[in-house]
Amino acid sequence: MVALSDLFWLVTSTHNWCCSSSVEQTQNSSVASSSAATIAVQSCQQLQQSLGPTVVQTSTSGSDYILGANGAWSTFNTEVNYQPTCIVFANEAEHVQTAMQTIYQNEADYAVQAGGHSGMTGWNTIQDGVLISFKNMNTSSYDPDHDTITMMPGVRWGEVITEMEPFGVAPVGGRISEVGTGLLLGGGLSFLSSAEGYASDNYVSLDVVLVDGTLVTATADNEYQDLFKALKGGANRFGIVTKYEVKAVHTGTKEEKRWWGGLFVYPNSSSEALLGAIAHYTHDTEDTNAVMVTVIMTTWPSLEPSISVLLVYNGTEASFNHAFAEFLSIPYTSSSPGSLSFLELSNAVHFPSGMGTLFSASSLAGTPANSDVSVDDYLELYRQYNNFSTTFASSSDIGFTLLDFSPVLQSQIRAGYKKGGNPINPPLGTTGYSIILFQVTYREGVTQTAEDVEDGRQFWIENAPSTPGLPLFLSEADAAQQVFATYGEYDFLKQVYAKYDPTSFNVRHTEGPLGLESVLTPSICEPLSIFNYSLPLPLCF
Ligand SMILES: Cc1cc2nc3c(=O)[nH]c(=O)nc-3n(C[C@H](O)[C@H](O)[C@H](O)COP(=O)(O)OP(=O)(O)OC[C@H]3O[C@@H](n4cnc5c(N)ncnc54)[C@H](O)[C@@H]3O)c2cc1C
Repeated sequence: MVALSDLFWLVTSTHNWCCSSSVEQTQNSSVASSSAATIAVQSCQQLQQSLGPTVVQTSTSGSDYILGANGAWSTFNTEVNYQPTCIVFANEAEHVQTAMQTIYQNEADYAVQAGGHSGMTGWNTIQDGVLISFKNMNTSSYDPDHDTITMMPGVRWGEVITEMEPFGVAPVGGRISEVGTGLLLGGGLSFLSSAEGYASDNYVSLDVVLVDGTLVTATADNEYQDLFKALKGGANRFGIVTKYEVKAVHTGTKEEKRWWGGLFVYPNSSSEALLGAIAHYTHDTEDTNAVMVTVIMTTWPSLEPSISVLLVYNGTEASFNHAFAEFLSIPYTSSSPGSLSFLELSNAVHFPSGMGTLFSASSLAGTPANSDVSVDDYLELYRQYNNFSTTFASSSDIGFTLLDFSPVLQSQIRAGYKKGGNPINPPLGTTGYSIILFQVTYREGVTQTAEDVEDGRQFWIENAPSTPGLPLFLSEADAAQQVFATYGEYDFLKQVYAKYDPTSFNVRHTEGPLGLESVLTPSICEPLSIFNYSLPLPLCF
């Protein structure tokens, strides 16, 4: 684990490394941002000329600009903190190609936004740069001959699941309908994951605009197979995906209520037993029809945690009772089990928007039920979650906090291997693990993080139990957590990045996951010379 002082260094150095943010500006970065601003204005003018004023809009030249600049779920990523110099409302891949060619030639800063649900400040918007928005590329279609679903990057999971329902199919996609396709690039956790792997394990083909504007189609066995695999968790670092073709899963139409289950609400007095049940389920479950997600929410100022567990089973009530016996034996205060279609399941949970939010991640191995292995790490994690509430009980900034547990079962890991593997590459063995999200959501109207609350969140990151050797979940982590370094195939990721972005353009010009800075730019790194032969690229691994 890194020390607080190291984290501070990481955060500040990352901001100086790439694009400056209006949230945290230093004197140096304001000099850098004035030149970034000039380059961005010039790039936007060129783009308006080549793509026209409807596709490329500025704050003074287009009716959709305000909508685009405020399209993000976390208000920390909206216009109050970031005003993109222009927004490219792409209608087709060619628009993205043109945008990237111009951005690349001019060395402009940029960002990409699909569904806007990133919890990382500055990853889906930009100050003094070009924002590429997929708001207008939002269709999906089913190909019965190949049994695949094609999605444009601007579609949201609720839309694609609704559109696919009459065909009785669904993608392995998000569990919350409002979230967008950026989920796939972080791996992606789905209600179908125990059987089908991470959402991205189900890619069939990807259209990708590389950093210099080249459009390629990547599949599992063509010349871009390394890129194809890297995009199963490589986030926004490897190119801009302009089309996803994924496997269709036959989940049934809305008349086919194949699932049984619902939301179970537990009192805080059940928390200890429940954390044990989560740890045991995560370790022991082999049944790929079972789905469990736990969400603990604490609202200010009452500070009483409310514990909800979504328990559903793709099968009968009897199988449900068997799969979740330990959860059902713990006293709960209310429940709503019943039969559900996949469409109903996908629309069961909604999350509020319109507030500034930050994520933090941990991963914990499961523990076997019939053994004397303790669940102390789960209990300690929850203790530290409650400790945060007590410490900041009088905060007028915090709206609520969440602690989520999502299991990655061994069956999910095996499914990923069978489908060609992914860079996350969790250990194949005897136990699954819990992906843990600690989320701090500020009150509506709060536009900046509070320093003491941030310190407290960083303290949780540093001190919350985390099992060594397990990957962190990129989509629910803090921007400063070194998630790529926890991946089983981190070296592979670095090699593929060096191949497709040899000058580290993406790392230098857009915010995103840390860990690929090792391929340095010519200004920072001397070209390598081996036996009098100068390598064309200054690699600095
Ligand atoms: C309420 C809520 C519920 C969630 N539920 C789940 C869940 O069930 N399962 C799960 O796995 N995750 C879940 N997440 C996490 C979610 O997967 C990530 O926040 C994800 O990044 C959101 O994708 P997006 O398209 O909505 O967001 P965006 O903010 O638009 O994109 C996220 C990141 O991906 C980049 N990006 C997006 N599209 C592209 C593209 N086509 N090419 C290149 N880069 C791109 C963006 O630049 C940004 O860095 C949830 C998040 C929230 C807020």
